[in-house]
Amino acid sequence: MPSLIFRKGLDLKHAVAGMLADNYHSALVDRIKANEFTYRTGRLTVHLAREFGFCYGVDRAVDYAYQTRERFPERSVYLTGEIIHNPHVNEKLRAMGIGFLSDDPERVNRLGPDDVVILPAFGVTMATLQQFERRGCTLIDTTCGSVLNVWKNVRRYAEGGYTSVIHGKVWHEETQATASQAVEYGGRYLVVFDRTETGQVCDYIRHGGDRAAFMAKFASAVSPGFDPDRDLERVGLANQTTMLMSESLEIADMLKGAMAERFGATDLAAHFQAFDTICSATQDRQDAVVRLLEEKPIDLMLVIGGYNSSNTANLARICAASRPTYHIADPDCLVSADEIRHRAVGSKDEITTAGWLPAAGPVVLGLTSGASTPDNLVGAAIARLEAFAAAS
Ligand code: SF4
Repeated sequence: MPSLIFRKGLDLKHAVAGMLADNYHSALVDRIKANEFTYRTGRLTVHLAREFGFCYGVDRAVDYAYQTRERFPERSVYLTGEIIHNPHVNEKLRAMGIGFLSDDPERVNRLGPDDVVILPAFGVTMATLQQFERRGCTLIDTTCGSVLNVWKNVRRYAEGGYTSVIHGKVWHEETQATASQAVEYGGRYLVVFDRTETGQVCDYIRHGGDRAAFMAKFASAVSPGFDPDRDLERVGLANQTTMLMSESLEIADMLKGAMAERFGATDLAAHFQAFDTICSATQDRQDAVVRLLEEKPIDLMLVIGGYNSSNTANLARICAASRPTYHIADPDCLVSADEIRHRAVGSKDEITTAGWLPAAGPVVLGLTSGASTPDNLVGAAIARLEAFAAAS
């Protein structure tokens, strides 16, 4: 039996609105927004970025997950893995009885038409989708429109004979899903993580080189059968939607320059195409934090979001370039006015730092949060800061 796929929700938006507000809303954050995004408490001043927190894609995905539970109370409902990269939200969904297929990969082979599977905001690979379809599961597709836009460009590259060069994290679900679109439409892909890797690709485009060394370096980042001598002659650039915009633009320039040198500027479009596929929510959050740092006398920055959240990590990178920055996963990381648990920019591990908040005198904190962080966590973090200020 073919899968039934819901792509526009389940007509239960009003039925779950109260529950979503109870779980993720913050009256304190609303008050701060109404007060020019500023909060003063004792010797602390907190400035919120003008754009932060849940993006439109995450908002919709979480809403659809709640609607799914409401619509199918008697059926087994699963997520493929994390619906978004926020542990707090994922735990809430577990508590509602929604299972995670990532907990037991074998479970997929026992799914059937009575089971309901929610596809996450960042999408799934074609192979995963086809597996669910073969098993006849009911599917709730929450793939974000901005991710679908990337896929559209990648398919166009594939159909036009261009290799998709994807600026993204090869281990990230969205990038894997995007790469699978290239293959599905008969194309090829290469994932580059940063400027350094792009520089290596550009060298190869310009001068050729050691094919075996190139393949060893990018073994896990290319489509099956990739041949750099053949597949770097026509390339189209796409991005994981949550990368750092400034870096993506540089990467576009680097590739464009290399292709122009190799093939000449006159026929460049036949060899190089680029579409900016950073989503507007990511862009808005990055722009807002840049503005905050420029306009306010910020002493230190707090960035709240899951440690595996790409867009949160990029917000922290922007902040850390000019201010002491603490990327925290949730309000509990604010252990005390002296101690904070956080993930240093560029590192994978959580560390504890003492003396993060100056012990005396006025302090101006900037605060932002990633696209998968609900407002109630931001509100709880501010409440902790208020308690620290009251005690000092
Ligand atoms: S970060 Fe962008 S692409 Fe990802 S879910 Fe949010 S709006 Fe969609």
